[in-house]
Amino acid sequence: LRILLVGSGGREHALAWKLAQSPLVETIYVSPGNGGTAKRLNKVSNVNIGVSDFSKLTEFALNNHVNFVIPGPEQPLVEGIQSAAVMEGSKTFSKNFMKKHNIPTAAYKNFSDYEKAKAYLNSISHKIVIKASGLAGGKGVLIPTNKQEALEALKELMVDRAFGSAGDEVVIEEFLEGQELSVLSFSDGYTIIPLPPAQDHKRIFDGDLGPNTGGMGCYCPTPIATPELITEIKNTILMPTISGMRRDGFPFVGMLFTGLMITSSGPKVLEYNVRFGDPETEAVLPLLSDDTDLAEIMLACTEGRLDSVHISTKPGFAATVIIAAGGYPGKYSKGKEITIHNIAPDTLIFHAGTSILNDKLVTSGGRVLAVSGVASTLREAVDNVYETVKLINFENLFYRNDIAHRAFEYLAE
Ligand code: ATP
Repeated sequence: LRILLVGSGGREHALAWKLAQSPLVETIYVSPGNGGTAKRLNKVSNVNIGVSDFSKLTEFALNNHVNFVIPGPEQPLVEGIQSAAVMEGSKTFSKNFMKKHNIPTAAYKNFSDYEKAKAYLNSISHKIVIKASGLAGGKGVLIPTNKQEALEALKELMVDRAFGSAGDEVVIEEFLEGQELSVLSFSDGYTIIPLPPAQDHKRIFDGDLGPNTGGMGCYCPTPIATPELITEIKNTILMPTISGMRRDGFPFVGMLFTGLMITSSGPKVLEYNVRFGDPETEAVLPLLSDDTDLAEIMLACTEGRLDSVHISTKPGFAATVIIAAGGYPGKYSKGKEITIHNIAPDTLIFHAGTSILNDKLVTSGGRVLAVSGVASTLREAVDNVYETVKLINFENLFYRNDIAHRAFEYLAE
């Protein structure tokens, strides 16, 4: 296989790392890639084409006999690489889809008229979440604590158009209490195979405080996801999603990411993504057993024979800690030299915002590195990762110290 992997984050480095282990894979091109996918991995090289430059990507794929394209980030998906991307590109669409197929989700109303949305807000008293329907880089979800804040949030989205056309339509939905889980599943349109559930840490500071980020760390499997809960998620959410997409004329082939809230009345869908999650991928892929061939799984998805492939996970737990540039998700500096000392051979460092400048590894983004490890207990996995994190240095680096805290609190109860 000659694979073109579109993207430049930790997710893409992790995908390249796992795919490169497959005997089926000859070459992996990463466009544009990062410092970790540049000449450091066997079979893997970077191609300097942006993620949305479809004509150049197509030309490159044809000229280089690429027979498999894997889109990493949301932008090229929603801009047209995959038609099923409407499931994440329009929250109005995905909420209507869930309602139609009886998939549990927060009660909601869609609005495209500001006055009507305002009148609705004035008529209710329960806690709500207001979402821009279109893509807003994870920032278009507002959780007001009182009516005044709710009205201001609505105005910001629909009148001030803080996220441009993404706020032309909004979803106002019931606020759900519970723990969040991410489930990554492979599908060939008929069969769906979920991987162990993971939990991301969206906020920048310890204790889940401060602004939202792309994700500051992750662990899996999550202890709250009992085998019974996983079966319930599969039966009430994943299977109806796959068959609903097929019946509605856009059968889903690939990786379906389902963001869930585990409420007192069962699991409910927060969102779908039609791609691998970041940082979930950096934790989940290392947990796949060595004889689980990611390229073979993805090929089987496209050939409608997912039920015939071998997928298994290692016993134990995986943890991932993101090292960010100080200031992220606000302003931060780039171009800082990164040093990495004497890392234990079994820890994995996936690059996100790095590049090579004059043969030196330097920072080039907000989330810089994802450090992952697998061990027989969650405590050991987390401790090992933090040991490695301490061996990495660049000016003004920042990371959370409490990855997996909810799992430890849950296990202590
Ligand atoms: P992402 O950054 O994951 O792409 P997004 O912009 O697609 O996010 P959602 O996943 O719908 O938006 O929501 C973002 C976050 O807001 C969720 O991870 C969750 O923490 C919170 N959230 C969303 N909907 C609700 C809800 N109904 N009740 C409580 N919290 C919610």
